[in-house]
Amino acid sequence: MLGFLEKVRDYTKEAVSAAKYLFDGLSVTFDHMRRRPVTVQYPYEKLIPSERYRGRIHYEFDKCIACEVCVRVCPINLPVVDWVMNKETKKKELRNYSIDFGACIFCGNCVEYCPTNCLSMTEEYELAAFDRHSLNYDNVALGRLPTSVTSDPSVRPLRELAYLPEGIMDPHDLPPNQKRAGKLPTQIIKELQEEISQGKDTVDSTDMVPNKSNSTN
Ligand code: SF4
Ligand code: SF4
Repeated sequence: MLGFLEKVRDYTKEAVSAAKYLFDGLSVTFDHMRRRPVTVQYPYEKLIPSERYRGRIHYEFDKCIACEVCVRVCPINLPVVDWVMNKETKKKELRNYSIDFGACIFCGNCVEYCPTNCLSMTEEYELAAFDRHSLNYDNVALGRLPTSVTSDPSVRPLRELAYLPEGIMDPHDLPPNQKRAGKLPTQIIKELQEEISQGKDTVDSTDMVPNKSNSTN
């Protein structure tokens, strides 16, 4: 009889611990049901890239003065500026300009230091190609205007998932004026600027208050 009771006790212990492990595993699953999605149905849906996204570089041939600053500031001296000196005018003549996106690390140095602003970073990130040599963009390919997620009719643009309104799990069909859960960087900057201007106003107004000790003297 005692042996039977011990068996029952052991069995119950094992059943309880198995149920505990099962519940631990399921708690992770249930926890994910309360979380926001982190994936989109690419390529039918795409997230709108942030304002300062560093994608494919756009280049304007007409603005370039062949100064080669972009080459010097590039960590791998990547841009190729092909120019010849015109002996009559004693000026550089630009022939070609190219950047190999197979090697570019999209650091943005060239864009930052270009004196004529003929380089800019776009929101284009789909640069995959079958041949690595086709990633070497010449001035014509670099001059192509970028595609935008919001203006592409075949794509459904989605807002950033991190800024979904509170309690909303699905990023589809959101009313545009609904309050966001988080603030956009632009909103934070605006608030900071307002705070700074208010602070200045306060400082200015305190400066204008006459100093009592001085006025009494
Ligand atoms: S820094 Fe700008 S202007 Fe100078 S060569 Fe490069 S792209 Fe042209
Ligand atoms: S983004 Fe950076 S790595 Fe790419 S070409 Fe410009 S400076 Fe070079």
